[in-house]
Amino acid sequence: MAHQLPDLAYDYSALEPHIDARTMDIHHTKHHQGYVDKLNKILEGHDDLSSKPIVDLLRSINKVPEDIRQQVINQGGGHFNHSFWWEIINPKDRLEEPEGKLKEEIEKAFGSFEGFKTEFTEKATTLFGSGWTWLGADENGTAFHIHNHSNQENPLLHNHIPVLGIDLWEHAYYLKYQNRRPEYIEAFWHVVNWREVSRRYQNAL
Ligand code: MN
Repeated sequence: MAHQLPDLAYDYSALEPHIDARTMDIHHTKHHQGYVDKLNKILEGHDDLSSKPIVDLLRSINKVPEDIRQQVINQGGGHFNHSFWWEIINPKDRLEEPEGKLKEEIEKAFGSFEGFKTEFTEKATTLFGSGWTWLGADENGTAFHIHNHSNQENPLLHNHIPVLGIDLWEHAYYLKYQNRRPEYIEAFWHVVNWREVSRRYQNAL
């Protein structure tokens, strides 16, 4: 079964004014679709790989033949990262702060939720070029850390759990914010659904 573009559980305009509908539409139907199509193309003829769920494929990236490994990281990472992205900004039943074990771990690692946001924002502001800032945890769900990853790399490729990520490619914000990345990062805090982030983290443990 080939990889497929996931449907969004909400309208493209649902995150206005923080993320505009046109950006959402193009990001989903053009950019994410592009990653899916290219990934499927790369995996043609590799039945053992194409049947794996995307998370498993990335977690066992060393089993991917070297001649296609970087392309799987690029396109498969793009597919996973964007699928993750649409879910953590789902506005339905939105919660403004982490809950449960996630809240505890964030406070343990960064002192407070505000402390975490400050550190994450600083990291995201300094990423050079295209990539993502990720909050990751080790495989036990502890040892939280914030990393900048270029292009479509993510914590799965390093045996870590992706907890929170922000897409810092210009295609994610340029139409509305142009070169004002700090404003986009600020807007991100208005759309992250911590109920969803907390739930995903809990399920990954
Ligand atoms: Mn993107």
